[in-house]
Amino acid sequence: MDEITKLTDVLVIGEINNSEIDKTTLEVLGVSNILRSKGIKRVGTLIGGNSVKDGELKKVIHYGSDYVIFIKNAVFSEFAYHVTAKIFIDYIKMINPIIILSAATVHGTTLMPYIAAKLNTGLTADCTSLDIDPIDGKLLQIRPAIGGNIMATIKTMTIPQMATVRPNTYRPTYINNRDGQIIVKQDESKYNSGFLLSEIETRKRHQNLVDANIICSGGRGLKNIKNFALVSKLAEKIGGVVGASRVAVEQGWASYPHQVGLSGKTVSPKLYLALGISGAIQHLAGIQTSQYIIAVNRDPEAQIFRVSDLGIVGDVTEVVTKIIELLEKRGQNASF
Ligand SMILES: Cc1cc2nc3c(=O)[nH]c(=O)nc-3n(C[C@H](O)[C@H](O)[C@H](O)COP(=O)(O)OP(=O)(O)OC[C@H]3O[C@@H](n4cnc5c(N)ncnc54)[C@H](O)[C@@H]3O)c2cc1C
Repeated sequence: MDEITKLTDVLVIGEINNSEIDKTTLEVLGVSNILRSKGIKRVGTLIGGNSVKDGELKKVIHYGSDYVIFIKNAVFSEFAYHVTAKIFIDYIKMINPIIILSAATVHGTTLMPYIAAKLNTGLTADCTSLDIDPIDGKLLQIRPAIGGNIMATIKTMTIPQMATVRPNTYRPTYINNRDGQIIVKQDESKYNSGFLLSEIETRKRHQNLVDANIICSGGRGLKNIKNFALVSKLAEKIGGVVGASRVAVEQGWASYPHQVGLSGKTVSPKLYLALGISGAIQHLAGIQTSQYIIAVNRDPEAQIFRVSDLGIVGDVTEVVTKIIELLEKRGQNASF
């Protein structure tokens, strides 16, 4: 294994859910691929899990890892992060990477600070961009700071340099002809923290903005909370989730967890509907990896039309009401 892991520049701490590689892990590999053009050579991935479906580890190779180590142990499904961290740290010490990355998911944001503390190194959380300093080769960790008023570029002076990457910031990149080693290791560590896990409740993952395929977002153009309710109605009709601009949140038409943008959520749906939203740079920062954007705005010069695949110029309340009426006439929910 020493031969395989030797000279690893970037180690990605991956995540597995329902025996499948989480898409956020592939996104982190996406940014690692970009860093390759800046001098990063060897990228490895370390994943812990109870089981993994056929083909999933090969997928990690196709998305940019040179090798993947899958550590098998039932303890990972309990997410006892101190046990997980201990197992991972043994591997990290063996691999000796210069950079460790993970997605800023619940998994990543819980595990990475613990690992960083144990390795006596720094960690930059929730980066929206990563780069390599052309002068000293250090990792440039870029993230909004001071409530999103500035973009801070952070360098860690200790090694390994550790960062978590905000989900939906980078697109995964599938590379067809890629070979790499897949290593599966059985680990026998047990969960013995002294706490008693009396009951583990399994819930269907709550669909939120970050995971949503369809998002209907409303902005100031809707004018009031009554009209904003049309956004929820449309979302319900087309199986979407409600998003909002910061102005809509400040007006109290939607709560903060619905805010999309630089100081809200970064989303990556198949379809993003921007309803009465101007397309300010801070809003666009949160929707740039959306597959299709449809905007409704009465101003034909609105910035949002520059990033939209389809634009409707008109009064947003009238347009949305009309769409809902048409969907209701169809007598069934639309599907995308
Ligand atoms: C540090 C910082 C962080 C920020 N973070 C975020 C963030 O995370 N998310 C975010 O969204 N913003 C953020 N903002 C705010 C951002 O700059 C904009 O102010 C905000 O996105 C504007 O929201 P809006 O598009 O709803 O409103 P406006 O910019 O006022 O746009 C309203 C739009 O509605 C259209 N309109 C008006 N009436 C109608 C009508 N009847 N029918 C159709 N269209 C109509 C107008 O033509 C206009 O284009 C941030 C700002 C700062 C400084």
